[in-house]
Amino acid sequence: MVILGIESTAHTFGVGVVRDGKILANVKSSYVTEKGGIIPIEAAKHHRESKKKVYSQALKVSGINEGEIDAISVSQGPGLAPCLLEGMKFAKELAKRLRKPLVPVNHCIAHLEIGRITGAKGPVMLYASGANTQIIAYASGKFRIFGETLDLGVGNFIDNFARYAGIGFPGGPKVEKLAKKSHDYTELPYTVKGMDIALSGILTNLKQKTESGKYKIQDLAYSMQETVFAMLVETAERALAHTGKKELLLGGGVACNSRLQEMCKIMCKERGAKFFCPDKSLLVDNGAMIAFLGEIMFKKKIYEKNVNKIDIKPRQRTDEVDVNWK
Ligand code: AMP
Ligand code: MG
Repeated sequence: MVILGIESTAHTFGVGVVRDGKILANVKSSYVTEKGGIIPIEAAKHHRESKKKVYSQALKVSGINEGEIDAISVSQGPGLAPCLLEGMKFAKELAKRLRKPLVPVNHCIAHLEIGRITGAKGPVMLYASGANTQIIAYASGKFRIFGETLDLGVGNFIDNFARYAGIGFPGGPKVEKLAKKSHDYTELPYTVKGMDIALSGILTNLKQKTESGKYKIQDLAYSMQETVFAMLVETAERALAHTGKKELLLGGGVACNSRLQEMCKIMCKERGAKFFCPDKSLLVDNGAMIAFLGEIMFKKKIYEKNVNKIDIKPRQRTDEVDVNWK
């Protein structure tokens, strides 16, 4: 069985091809800026302009032709509406032209399910991406959110900090590089509230510190990572304890950060849990994970049969989705 998956929730337009759980292609093009953050309309324009190229490249890499595609899956939400619309439009046109079913999937759950490729069977996932930050695990028929950010996603938070520091979008990789140059910890607020975290107060604090001119940016980058990642690891550990699960899976673009990975590894080792982290190409937004989850759902016939009834769901929550495939 061959499934083609389309991702377009935010900055990335991606097309992946999966055959029987094996990734044949994972091609993407991402919207980036020199300075400033993501502008949804601009990102959507990027998707519009790059979609044909990404699609044909994915077919080429996978070595399949259009006729071999059994179904198309598309990331339906959550995400930025203008970006989602581009992906949905493309997916519908393709499904209609090829006369194949369209399987809408939840983006966050796709991040989680692609973890199966690493060998994780029933993990707690720390999903740390641009717009989303959640601790998710499967329990009684749904993927439950055990903890989440009360305001910003951790990636957006880091990108905002990077913007104050004038280093462009996405800021994460640049902030990580800066942080490696420092071991000088400056105290920042630590805001874990039960199982949830809050980031906007820390952002204000960082902004004030940046503007004061009294701190080196690399010291702030280092202190930010140490503080915020500790908050993530603390809540993830509590979810492991609460659910009794023995596997931690990382997902989302921020999971590319080597310090976050290291802190998770240490925590897992200390409590005898296994740590899983997919390859970077599967951590960031990508079409392969959409195809992967699409295949699981398609095989169980879990999709809306009338293409015209399928729409984007910019605010869809992980725990809204009925997980009938487990
Ligand atoms: P996603 O929304 O899952 O594609 O993730 C995008 C987010 O990941 C952006 O906010 C990036 O700044 C962030 N990101 C990417 N690489 C890193 C990194 N090495 N360290 C921290 N954040 C990162
Ligand atoms: Mg994502």
